[in-house]
Amino acid sequence: MASSDTIFGRILRGEIPCQEVYADDLCLAFRDVNPQAPVHVLVIPREPIAQLGEATDAHQALLGHLLLVAAKVARLEGLESWRTVINSGAEAGQTVFHLHLHVIGGRPLAWPPG
Ligand code: C5P
Repeated sequence: MASSDTIFGRILRGEIPCQEVYADDLCLAFRDVNPQAPVHVLVIPREPIAQLGEATDAHQALLGHLLLVAAKVARLEGLESWRTVINSGAEAGQTVFHLHLHVIGGRPLAWPPG
């Protein structure tokens, strides 16, 4: 499935609403509809990369940018500690095949994740 056909592609195109936290030319950050913690934000690139495992060397700068935006989101949300998660592939729990970074915080987080 082309990533532009995912629910995140529809959010990027403004076809369905989201609770935006941050946006720039390269990415969008918005609140997860099913939050797993008091803060649960998703950072997605505007470019439709299906999953991290499909990223290439050409995406190096974009991937670095997404990590810096995750840290910016954590700052904006007032978090001192947080977790960034990327699920790549169905068995890892990926359900939406448009690359996204979870930014999760606001409560103690257990390790390892399930
Ligand atoms: O990593 P994974 O693919 O499982 O994460 C997808 C996330 O997208 C889930 O946390 C889900 O709650 C979120 N989601 C959302 N808005 C949608 C559909 C899914 O925030 N419309």
